[in-house]
Amino acid sequence: MDHFLYRNGRLMAEDVALSDIAASVGTPFYCYSAATLTRHLRLFNDALAGMEHLVCYAMKANSNLAVLKLLGDLGAGMDVVSGGEYRRARAAGVPGDRIVFSGIGKTKDEMRLALTGGIRQFNVESEPEMEALNQVALSLNTVAPISVRVNPDVDAKTHEKIATGRKEDKFGIPISRASEVYAHAARLPGLQVVGIDVHIGSQLTDLAPFEAAYRKLADLTVQLRAEGHDIRRLDLGGGLGIPYERSNADPPLPSDYGAMVQRVLGHLECEIEIEPGRLIAGNAGVLVSEVIYVKEGEERQFLILDAAMNDLIRPAMYGAYHDIVPLIEPAPGAESRPYDVVGPVCESGDTFAKQRMLSLLSPGDLVAFRSAGAYGAVMASEYNSRPLIPEVLVSGDQFAVIRARPTFDEMLNRDTIPEWL
Ligand SMILES: *Cc1c(COP(=O)(O)O)cnc(C)c1O
Repeated sequence: MDHFLYRNGRLMAEDVALSDIAASVGTPFYCYSAATLTRHLRLFNDALAGMEHLVCYAMKANSNLAVLKLLGDLGAGMDVVSGGEYRRARAAGVPGDRIVFSGIGKTKDEMRLALTGGIRQFNVESEPEMEALNQVALSLNTVAPISVRVNPDVDAKTHEKIATGRKEDKFGIPISRASEVYAHAARLPGLQVVGIDVHIGSQLTDLAPFEAAYRKLADLTVQLRAEGHDIRRLDLGGGLGIPYERSNADPPLPSDYGAMVQRVLGHLECEIEIEPGRLIAGNAGVLVSEVIYVKEGEERQFLILDAAMNDLIRPAMYGAYHDIVPLIEPAPGAESRPYDVVGPVCESGDTFAKQRMLSLLSPGDLVAFRSAGAYGAVMASEYNSRPLIPEVLVSGDQFAVIRARPTFDEMLNRDTIPEWL
């Protein structure tokens, strides 16, 4: 459930009409609902209520400082994958002991930043990384808490580009080598083993792959403890999917997920960490855009919007589906027709949807892409010299721009023409 509903024929973000925001900030823009973000975090906390746990929001899904502040103030930890994300989390007031650092290519500078600034744990993905972290920690006279990310060789049955737990994927160490790798870690004085980490992919719509991975994790926990390692935390990663297409069967709820985690891992008495990103932010955001032209092609009718693939790349990159709805609610039984919904960028890939049935639309009409709160604004670029679009946060009847649209001068001033040219 989210907080983008029609009221009196207008699509609202909580108690604010999206068309009022459009009139104030211009299109296109992203809009997030504070109540939805709050609700989604609570769902996970409730789902794991019976176990000691920390929800570490995977902030790569949406790392606007206002979003981080909101979630951080509600007690969320953060899963960061770069020094930039670490800085954002800290700037939003999240304490270091609630930040886990994931990613396969951490640099020594990033390690230093997190070790001096405070960190809950590093999720280490290879032995060379372990060696590097050991060196950095020793040079700072400190000890780095680590979990090793294991690759359980489970197929998440999701999109090719976001499956991460098969043996051919670049992530983690093969679970078959875990014993060796943990023994190696235990020999390095700059490291302290605190747990095990796993993350098998994103947009999973079935609990079975999670359960398969977590069963392997349970066995591994018992084995590593027997080998003398102090496994007190299990980081289960993120990946729970969201209903992009409302007509489709709904993915499992956080409560189902939580019950499964309790059943499979509860007896181990570990602190549980989870790293949801998409489920927290995805349906907490929409992208609002205006129809520029309706163009009659030979076989198709094109709806040309002022938003493009540079603003929301998921359809072009993953063939992803987003619901598209008009800001004015169509009358019951109103005529609809198939449109190819496209942006102005000079690539045929700049297509949001093909042959999508929508009520009749005209230039100047506004539409919203649903489920755009995760992997939307964060993946945007200025391709075609289109300025990054603003982000707006709504809470009840108030809204604020939480990232302003850059001016063209600001964009141009980022480039420098060398004196010698
Ligand atoms: C991307 C990622 C997540 C979040 O995945 P979602 O599908 O957004 O929940 C969590 N952990 C790691 C290590 C990731 O790379």
